[in-house]
Amino acid sequence: MANTLSRLIPQIIGEYPKSFITLFDKISISSSNNEDEIKQTLWRAYEFGESCHSGQKRMSGKPYFKDHCVSVANILADWKMDYITIIGGLLHDTVEDSNISIDRIKKLFGKDVAQMVDGVTKLGHIEFTSRQEKQAGNFMKLLLSVAQDLRVVMIKFADRLHNMKTLHYMSRLKQHRTARETRDVYIPLAHRLGMAAVKWELEDLVMATLHPKKYKEIKSKLKSTKRQREKIINQVIDPLVQEMKKFDLDAKIFGRPKSIYSIYGKMIRREKVFEEIYDLHAIRVLVKKPEQCYLILGLIHQLYSPVQERFKDFIANAKTNGYQSIHTTVIGPNGNLIEIQIRTFKMEKTAEIGVAAHWRYKEEKDLSSDLDGNVKWLRELIELLKSETADPNEFMHLLKIDLFDDEIFVFTPKGDLFRLPKNATPIDFAFHIHSQIGLHCLGAKINHKIVPLNSVLKNGDRVEILTSPTQSPSYGWLKFVVTSKARTLINRYLKSVRRKECIHIGAEILAKSLKRSKLTSLLKIVNNSHSDFGFKTNDELMEAIGNGKITVKQIVRKLNPQNLSTISNEEFESGEKFIEQARSKTAGIKLQGITDLMVHFGKCCNPIPGDEMIGFITRGRGITVHQSKCKSLPLLQKETDRLVPVEWDVKRNENFNVRLKVTCADRKGGLKELTECISGQNVNIASLDLKVVHGLAKMILVIQVRNLRQLERVIKRASLIKGIDSIERVGR
Ligand code: MN
Repeated sequence: MANTLSRLIPQIIGEYPKSFITLFDKISISSSNNEDEIKQTLWRAYEFGESCHSGQKRMSGKPYFKDHCVSVANILADWKMDYITIIGGLLHDTVEDSNISIDRIKKLFGKDVAQMVDGVTKLGHIEFTSRQEKQAGNFMKLLLSVAQDLRVVMIKFADRLHNMKTLHYMSRLKQHRTARETRDVYIPLAHRLGMAAVKWELEDLVMATLHPKKYKEIKSKLKSTKRQREKIINQVIDPLVQEMKKFDLDAKIFGRPKSIYSIYGKMIRREKVFEEIYDLHAIRVLVKKPEQCYLILGLIHQLYSPVQERFKDFIANAKTNGYQSIHTTVIGPNGNLIEIQIRTFKMEKTAEIGVAAHWRYKEEKDLSSDLDGNVKWLRELIELLKSETADPNEFMHLLKIDLFDDEIFVFTPKGDLFRLPKNATPIDFAFHIHSQIGLHCLGAKINHKIVPLNSVLKNGDRVEILTSPTQSPSYGWLKFVVTSKARTLINRYLKSVRRKECIHIGAEILAKSLKRSKLTSLLKIVNNSHSDFGFKTNDELMEAIGNGKITVKQIVRKLNPQNLSTISNEEFESGEKFIEQARSKTAGIKLQGITDLMVHFGKCCNPIPGDEMIGFITRGRGITVHQSKCKSLPLLQKETDRLVPVEWDVKRNENFNVRLKVTCADRKGGLKELTECISGQNVNIASLDLKVVHGLAKMILVIQVRNLRQLERVIKRASLIKGIDSIERVGR
């Protein structure tokens, strides 16, 4: 009974599980009066976390929560993180691995814990595939900007450390991938954040996975020489302790094994075997005050001869990542080289968890609530470090945080990372990769889902661009692109298209106007006269005619004044009318008995050649042309006297926009097949809008067809594609 009770309500009975007590005892509580409160909150988190992960096992077969989450919390406690961060560690996988929402955590444990769990969850979704060193640097920045809170980074490091320690339960492939990611991203990041101890530990774990033979070899040699080394260490320490007593110095002195990775590095750099590495012996001395470090240094150098070139004072000149310590190498009693590190307890902590040590120091003084600011913590960190490091600019440079506020990082499907300005869209991304990809961009997927081209990209998004050789930029793109590269290239393209159109129209206007005026013989002369009108090429002259800068009348007047008298004004005017027609987009419609009226196509049905049509004379806006079967016509039929028969008059290769509504399964490659099918029939796609709901993709496609026959062929062929549910022609 008592057993059951204590398990159910240990906070009342006072019997907590051993693993909980171990964790709680590690937490340093500054003011003793809230100890009970903290204990209860921690217990609530412990219980909650355990219930969230109940039934889940690690690859090792051990229960997920007790093995992993509690270990992560313990690592954070060892680093002397505050209890809020430790709770964040206990709960770091709850959202990812169970149905718990961030809101729930916020309600139960407050905003800070919720934000931390959210941050760790987001970091977990970012996958790093090592391809270039440069990418790793970008990835680090991405991690920092996604994390937004240094404590999230600390939880991530604790998580990574524990996962690395238990890596051998994973498949070989997964082991290698995780180890490489640790090597390329987490170790350099640990270095930059000044987490020296974490860095060394991770380095050894990575080496054990990537170079297991060498690792085991050095490890066993270290083990077999351990006793001998300890003897040497003690021979050095004992006289030093005696000296310190004389000065009443309270210090912690211990021999420390050098990391296997650092020994391996030395073996490679100096091209030596293990037995030839002499400075395997290392001692660390910890004291309370910085000035005591120098006193200890003096005592050591009195006892043993220092190796001059190996003395480094990182207290006077702190490393840019905040690391502080005195390093000296001396010649021990039997001629062994001994490396000694002297530092204060506070410096020791900094060496372990780096900049986070400063963070917590600051936190105790005030704040806690104002973590909201996007990258505020980094700014504050910089301020803090400015006063303590020798060269804050270099630190700034290392973290490269100056652009954090207005840049994002996104991935290609292959895992390459690109930096883009904030609010960038898939179009910006496409142009960033290559101008040709941008110019033929048809659609985009973000994190495997098809999205509209004006979607705003977010940090960590995986972006895939769909292209089609027949696709080209539209004016609409200019409304949302943010990079100058995309803007410039789109503008350049649109300008060239406009120019080509103008040249084409110009040539046609010239030919038809001359024909109407029975002056066809002049055509050849005009075509060689561009320099007479101040143009460099014939195309430039045609362009000028096309956009109305120069009229055919002006040209004829100059080239052949006597012919001008034979041309009646009316004929020229009809020529002008033709110009208007050629320029207007509605060319291609012939109205019986009525000419020169403004013609619009009904947006409701968008008729194309082949459709039966009818015109409706509007009040003051010319004629609107509808399909005969258009649904909005019955409304109009009350005013039958306003309906006029119209027919198609399509001579040129003209294209008409048609809207298609396509429903299909959200199948991989489905969209690609569809667009290829359409462009394969020489039909242009003007726009594509897509929504995926419950695995069903709903698209609105605007395609450009010549006539009904072509449209029907497109629909017929596209309907044969696997996964296509329906294709229908729709109005707006
Ligand atoms: Mn985890």
